[in-house]
Amino acid sequence: MPDIPKTMRAVVYRGVNDLRLETVPVPRIGPGELLVRVAACGVCPTDIKKIQYGTVPPPRIFGHETAGVISKLGSGVSGLGWKIGDRVALHHHVPCLDCHFCRHHAFAQCETYKRTGITAGFEPAGGGYAEYVRVLPFVLPGVVKIPARNSFAEGALLEPVNTVLKAVRRLSLLRGDVVLVAGQGPVGLMFTRLLQLAGMRVIATDLMAARLKLAKKFGAKWAMLAPNGTGRAELPLRHSNPGRAEHRRPALPLSAPKRGEGGRRPGEVFSTFIHRTTRGRGLDAAVIAVPSDAVVRQAQTWLRGGGQLMLFAHTKRGAVMEIDPATVCVDEKDLLGSYSSDFTLQDEVARLVFSRRLDVRPLITHRFPLAQTAAAIGLASQPTEDSLKIIVEGTACHRP
Ligand SMILES: [Zn+2]
Ligand SMILES: [Zn+2]
Repeated sequence: MPDIPKTMRAVVYRGVNDLRLETVPVPRIGPGELLVRVAACGVCPTDIKKIQYGTVPPPRIFGHETAGVISKLGSGVSGLGWKIGDRVALHHHVPCLDCHFCRHHAFAQCETYKRTGITAGFEPAGGGYAEYVRVLPFVLPGVVKIPARNSFAEGALLEPVNTVLKAVRRLSLLRGDVVLVAGQGPVGLMFTRLLQLAGMRVIATDLMAARLKLAKKFGAKWAMLAPNGTGRAELPLRHSNPGRAEHRRPALPLSAPKRGEGGRRPGEVFSTFIHRTTRGRGLDAAVIAVPSDAVVRQAQTWLRGGGQLMLFAHTKRGAVMEIDPATVCVDEKDLLGSYSSDFTLQDEVARLVFSRRLDVRPLITHRFPLAQTAAAIGLASQPTEDSLKIIVEGTACHRP
């Protein structure tokens, strides 16, 4: 059995924008629990918000997209098939599957689910920004073995992929439907790929050209610079696959429409494109993977009657947004949200990621050592042209 030290390094949240590398006790585990040495932990926007806005009281050790190596078993756990040295991906939330919410498949509203089952000390908050984490018994069903050929980072991304697949499953779509995915950060790109795998034709938009290139690789049928509803830069469309049947007559100018050209603004050009692509119906669905109200309002106008608008990035409470209620009542445009993961999708998510049908490796652009977690979070909160998913590496990834 490997020696487990008494203390470890961890990045402790001590207040708004205050993360400190500290020495803390290695968590002690009880019956039915696991101790996992962290190898990789993804940096997730929901943690960044908690750190930047101070929405939860300190001290806490964040980081919930965690993968590592089992280094100690509580009593009774070996009977469940786990052994020391297993490479595993963790899920910090697991529902009870038995309450009123769970019977309605609303797992994220289940009281058991809302408890965080992984901790490196203090109030449980994921704990991935530490050398070791303690896995509590009620989240043990969420532990997934990582196949030998896959990396820890791939394991760490099961959790965000699960949240995206859950949202995709909330949409009622038919093969060939046209879906807008606004925002091609790591999550938007996961949407693009999962929707494409389900047979949808995806229009991917972003303000960064580098992300659009990747969106094409992730299966977007069209990747375009976003026509910005906020009045900031309005950007040209990029038309791809002009040779395909429905585009024999190009719907759009392939070059940047200039301001005032033909009296039309790029936003209108985008509307015309959607109109032609959907034979005048409008979008079947739009996924909003950027926290922008302007994008929501604009996408809502592009939906067909009975279409669906999925909010995925509006996690900050207290905002007010104007929407014409008749578009929901009369036009039957559904407003949907989705948050967190669906435990029952876990096996499917593991197959998608580990088989690399959804290959998450191109999403990982930066890796930081544990001691530089604050810098990793800083970069994730101010993404650049070349940054997507950022991974904090634990000590288990350097094991002999
Ligand atoms: Zn997350
Ligand atoms: Zn429940």
